[in-house]
Amino acid sequence: MTSRLHVINEEKIFSNNLSSQLNQWQLSNSGFNYNVLSVFGSQSTGKSTLLNKLFGTSFDVMDESQRRQTTKGIWMCKALDIPLLVMDVEGTDGRERGEDQDFERKSALFSLAASSVLLINMWEHQVGLYQGANMGLLKTVMEVNFSMFIANSNSDNTEKPPKTLLLFIIRDHLAITPLDNLRTTLTNDIENIWNSVSKPENLTEANLSDYFDLDFVTLPHKVLQPEEFDQQTLRIRNNYFSDKDSKEFALKPEYHRKIPADGLSHYLETIWDKVQNNKDLDVPTQQELLAQYRCDEIASETLKIFHNRIISVKKPVEIGKFVPELGKVMRDAEKEALEMFDDIAFRYAKPVYDKKREELVDSIRTTLSPLYISQVRNLHKKAIDNFKKELHTRLKSDSYDFSNVVKESSQHHIETFVEQANEITLQGTDWSYIETLEQLKLDIDTVSAECRSEELLKLIKQLDRTIQKEAGEFVEVCLNHPDTDMWDKVLGRFNALLDRSKTSYNMKASKLNSTQKEIDATTGSLLRRAWISLRNKIEEQCSEAILLFRLRSIFEDKFRYDNKGIPRVWRPSDDIELIYTDAKEHTLQLLKLYRSIQPQDEEKVFSYPQLDDTVQDIIRVSDEEESYNYEESLQVLGEAKEAQLAARFKKDADAIYVEAKRSVVSSISK
Ligand code: GDP
Ligand code: MG
Repeated sequence: MTSRLHVINEEKIFSNNLSSQLNQWQLSNSGFNYNVLSVFGSQSTGKSTLLNKLFGTSFDVMDESQRRQTTKGIWMCKALDIPLLVMDVEGTDGRERGEDQDFERKSALFSLAASSVLLINMWEHQVGLYQGANMGLLKTVMEVNFSMFIANSNSDNTEKPPKTLLLFIIRDHLAITPLDNLRTTLTNDIENIWNSVSKPENLTEANLSDYFDLDFVTLPHKVLQPEEFDQQTLRIRNNYFSDKDSKEFALKPEYHRKIPADGLSHYLETIWDKVQNNKDLDVPTQQELLAQYRCDEIASETLKIFHNRIISVKKPVEIGKFVPELGKVMRDAEKEALEMFDDIAFRYAKPVYDKKREELVDSIRTTLSPLYISQVRNLHKKAIDNFKKELHTRLKSDSYDFSNVVKESSQHHIETFVEQANEITLQGTDWSYIETLEQLKLDIDTVSAECRSEELLKLIKQLDRTIQKEAGEFVEVCLNHPDTDMWDKVLGRFNALLDRSKTSYNMKASKLNSTQKEIDATTGSLLRRAWISLRNKIEEQCSEAILLFRLRSIFEDKFRYDNKGIPRVWRPSDDIELIYTDAKEHTLQLLKLYRSIQPQDEEKVFSYPQLDDTVQDIIRVSDEEESYNYEESLQVLGEAKEAQLAARFKKDADAIYVEAKRSVVSSISK
């Protein structure tokens, strides 16, 4: 025996547990592979007894001793070993009672909406009683069949309404009247009922057989002929419900209501709601509504799983990590979701299913699109980072061809980007990475320009260091021997040095893919830096201490040595004063040479290149270079400094003079 459910209770309220009960009966996932059967008939005609016998169900049966009506509302059970739901419907007692009639109509509507087979249970002696309870019921069934299934059939819905099998069970058959006679009588009655049913305008000519199949079986008296009763029920079970190949098989697909099992509970609930509230009920509309409801529900369950599926990649992609498996995860998750949806939803009305599937695809893609956008952004960043890294690594090696390195490297990273972006672009979307690709190309150009600028700067600094070293030497030599062409010598050598540096710069810079225009512009920077270095060296060589020392030695050379370079031994006859004055004047004269960098030969004047904006676009210009004042730099000693130097020098010279004087005096006194 299987569990049972009071699907419509005494208060005519629909059960909350149908869905879970269907689960328990393991029918929820059976798609269309199940059937529903209902039984109708007067009270206490052994309906429940029969159902239990036929299907192993557990419906309440009237207790002989009490004889009270047992079945109230509608009960549901699952048949043993058959995917069949059996509904035991409260019977009427055949009298014209208002409340009964109302429920009879409602239960007929409800049962017919779901059941492919209606068992009509009756005593043999009720056959031919046209006014009997079952006949009223049959009329109701036929009427509601029109309103429920056929209402929409002449609109765009071309599908034929499902047929219903009316299986008459004639109880307590005495075998005096053969089944065929009973069949004729009943068929006649039913045809009469059919004729009396008011039909929709366009269906006045409709035949009963278009909508109903009729079949009839007899059952012997259960108490008087128990063995025959058992045999016959066994035969019915087998021929009508078990053996698919039997010609009497009742559970034919053409009777099926096409409500997927997973939607049955919702469907029945809404049907009952309409019925109970006396609202118009047409099944095609209900089926479409059910399709929408279920497809939405399936889609939302699917989406939940889908979201869980992608959660592991969502975070990392969003925070900027490149997730290599993203494409696969997105495709798999989408495929899985659609398969999951299709698996259940395909049984629902195709237009609804198609539309809901489209919506599902849309919402999947709406979810995936930001991941795509983030990943494309991550790819862009990765491409640029890797390009930079590779460029710097490759440029560290001594022998590189800048233009080749840039070309190869940028091509490689652009290709990688395109490949990986393609990999995550789902088919059938309008997703595009073209804009990012264009940006990437621009960025790669910027990076290589930056890199070239760094390389140019490196080159300039290298050359500048050589210049500093060489200039350091000749500046010292030249300044140590002040002469009228002292600056000519300094600048002469400086210019020669620059010529060499320029040639070298030109050659190396052109290897960096620079245009001549760029080289020319940046050469200015090289020259300015060279000048600054030279000028720093001059400054150093013109420090107070060095100059003072230099002046002193010039003076001493002149004062202590004669014209032939022989050290003087002072004699009283010497005009020390004159020699002193001479040497002093000579030295002070030379001091003037240090005032400013001024060659005698105009051609030796260094032409300091002015800074212009074009350089800034190519390389970074140092602050010093930017604010440097060439004109001021030509000035070496200020007036005050010169005067101060002269004064200090004079003191030194005076001391030497005094010492010389003193040496003469002492030689006389000896
Ligand atoms: P229901 O109200 O139609 O569901 O009838 P029940 O199955 O509850 O049975 C009503 C009464 O009829 C019970 O006392 C049964 O024992 C009795 N009964 C069951 N089957 C038969 C039958 O085939 N013939 C007769 N005469 N009585 C039956
Ligand atoms: Mg009963």
